[in-house]
Amino acid sequence: MKNILLLAISCAAILSSCTQQKGINDQSTANGVFLRGTKITNDNFKGTAYLKMLMDADSLNPTTVGHVTFEPSARTKWHVHPGGQILLVMDGVGYYQEKGQTKKILRKGDVIKCPANVPHWHGASADSSFVQIAITNRHLGETLWLQEVTDEEYKN
Ligand code: MN
Repeated sequence: MKNILLLAISCAAILSSCTQQKGINDQSTANGVFLRGTKITNDNFKGTAYLKMLMDADSLNPTTVGHVTFEPSARTKWHVHPGGQILLVMDGVGYYQEKGQTKKILRKGDVIKCPANVPHWHGASADSSFVQIAITNRHLGETLWLQEVTDEEYKN
């Protein structure tokens, strides 16, 4: 009887841990530091990506800080930041491309400055997820979203 009880407790513990690992929610961490946040549902992104806002803009700091986790092949649309943006690469392998330039491969520890008013996109590589912190200056206006990054542009 004691053995059966121990077995039942062990099975319950194993089932419980499996369920926790599969579940993706606000409390999952993307890289062991920040929370993954919630799935992005707007159409400015293609594929699956998660956003955790770390800081909202205010009168003293007209800047937002967002932590974004892209699953493989997920990416933004082409877009423009009137006040520019800084990207800190936290994990994985990703891409960054400015209009008219070749695509750059980004790895953990890379820092990218997106110049003001230059169309660009960023996202994960095809084989790896990609985690970035985006620091976006809002004092000159909101992000302007443009067309989708085609599969041909993505692969080039
Ligand atoms: Mn950007």
